[in-house]
Amino acid sequence: MSKKTACVIGAGLGGMSAAVMLAKAGFSVKLFEKNGNVGGKLNRLQEKGFSFDLGPSIFTLPQFFRPVFEGDGKRLEDYVRLKRVDPQWRNFFEDGSVVDLYENLEDMRGELAKLGPQVFDEYRAFCEYSKIQYDITERGYFAKGLDGFWDFVKFYGFFGASKLDWSGTMAGGISKRVSDPKLRAILEYFIKYVGSSAYDSPGFMNLMPHIQLEFGLWYVEGGLYVLAEAFERRMAEVGVELHLNTEVLRIHKDEGRVKSLVVRHDQGSSQTVEADVIVSNMEVIPAYDKLLGEEQGFMKKLERFEPACSGIVLHLGTDRIYPQLAHHNFFYSENQKKHFHRVFQEGKLPDDPTIYLVAPTRSDASQAPAGCDNIKILPHIPHLGSKVPYTYEDCVALKERVVDKLERMGLTDLRKHTVVEDFWTPFDIQKKYYSNQGSIYGVVSDTRKNFAFKAPKKSDKYSNLYFVGGSVNPGGGMPMVVLSGCRAAEVIVREHARG
Ligand SMILES: Cc1cc2nc3c(=O)[nH]c(=O)nc-3n(C[C@H](O)[C@H](O)[C@H](O)COP(=O)(O)OP(=O)(O)OC[C@H]3O[C@@H](n4cnc5c(N)ncnc54)[C@H](O)[C@@H]3O)c2cc1C
Repeated sequence: MSKKTACVIGAGLGGMSAAVMLAKAGFSVKLFEKNGNVGGKLNRLQEKGFSFDLGPSIFTLPQFFRPVFEGDGKRLEDYVRLKRVDPQWRNFFEDGSVVDLYENLEDMRGELAKLGPQVFDEYRAFCEYSKIQYDITERGYFAKGLDGFWDFVKFYGFFGASKLDWSGTMAGGISKRVSDPKLRAILEYFIKYVGSSAYDSPGFMNLMPHIQLEFGLWYVEGGLYVLAEAFERRMAEVGVELHLNTEVLRIHKDEGRVKSLVVRHDQGSSQTVEADVIVSNMEVIPAYDKLLGEEQGFMKKLERFEPACSGIVLHLGTDRIYPQLAHHNFFYSENQKKHFHRVFQEGKLPDDPTIYLVAPTRSDASQAPAGCDNIKILPHIPHLGSKVPYTYEDCVALKERVVDKLERMGLTDLRKHTVVEDFWTPFDIQKKYYSNQGSIYGVVSDTRKNFAFKAPKKSDKYSNLYFVGGSVNPGGGMPMVVLSGCRAAEVIVREHARG
């Protein structure tokens, strides 16, 4: 019997995970990527001896990546060398205080003593609560690939998730247990991993600290892009047919099924490719809109899957080292609640954002020339469809405010010491990856909009169309999109491998 053909649109981590799992299950897999390299937002820029990871820099939950690399006697460690990062985060506050976040609970005892005598006990209680949120979520939402509210009710029943904090907000779950404002700000900012607001997302999102504290925060030696290269190698080994510089322009459909793709190669020639199954790593909303041309009524139903935030991303090569930096650093807003409100409720560019800053040479000297620093700076900002439109020039003005803040908070003469600069705005992110409104993590987690559910992995309109990546359950971030790819492949194998 001839193999069934699965066509995958996009070589982000979600698309590549699905491609590998389907090829391993016996499908003939063709993957089409519009850019000239794999990885999607996991991307790299190399300039003047600096190697900048353009997208993700924090690797968590390595166990979620394992199934892609396992089989034929192989394992993840045959493709990438992982290095534990500890302290995990260094946190800088406007009053000059600095608090490190360590993986180990006992290391935190000494660190939190800086903030007051009862803070460690509160932190420990919070960690127990975070673990409960993770364990419940892992058992069903992650492990079974649950895809929406009713799946959830069916799996957990009425009492199976009674300890899940679904009625409050993430910030509420923190403030109930932690009285110190600095520790609250640190725990709230774990919502960074899904580009949402701690004040709008449900309490169970407090599962995120447990992910990092229990399973570690990791670095991929040689830079995170080595992971994308590992996926590319893995695809070649299992026989995925990869077509780079090939954009999917249209999906042909007929009577509740998708039939074929129209692709354009970079030389300009077009071709129609037949498919038994299509997997889109292009996000759900742009794919239905641009590739399938769905009518407005249908698109309206998808509005609750609003994009997560976007960001400006500044990569700097400096001719000096800033020794106070750890690998991962956060410079907090003076009023983080106001910052979240401004970005996620008012839809305005932030005036005083919490800033994430990465200095990877703390774990890997190869990322910058000797005596230099490689610095990535990422404040979160509204997506392009937010209430108050902004321009490229507004992003540049924000960049200047961010650099002012960093110079004020100890990165003296950062501008003067910059020898390489690369700057991304949401306009660039949208253009490069076709993400919905320049979102960097897929769909927002917001109780009122979607209760933190993303779109389902299987189309409810076309019986052989599936989605993977940050816009579907379980959402954005590298481990989650890989999980979406693996879970989608399982469903496809179950529904389409035969017949
Ligand atoms: C600046 C930044 C920092 C981040 N930091 C972290 C972090 O520290 N840790 C973490 O875990 N995550 C982080 N993330 C999020 C993480 O990068 C994403 O959640 C994840 O990589 C997205 O994977 P994906 O599978 O959804 O696809 P994407 O990476 O979005 O890839 C989709 C691919 O599909 C292609 N495509 C789209 N439409 C078409 C079409 N019509 N035809 C052909 N190809 C198409 C695109 O070109 C792209 O290559 C960060 C993201 C950014 C941008």
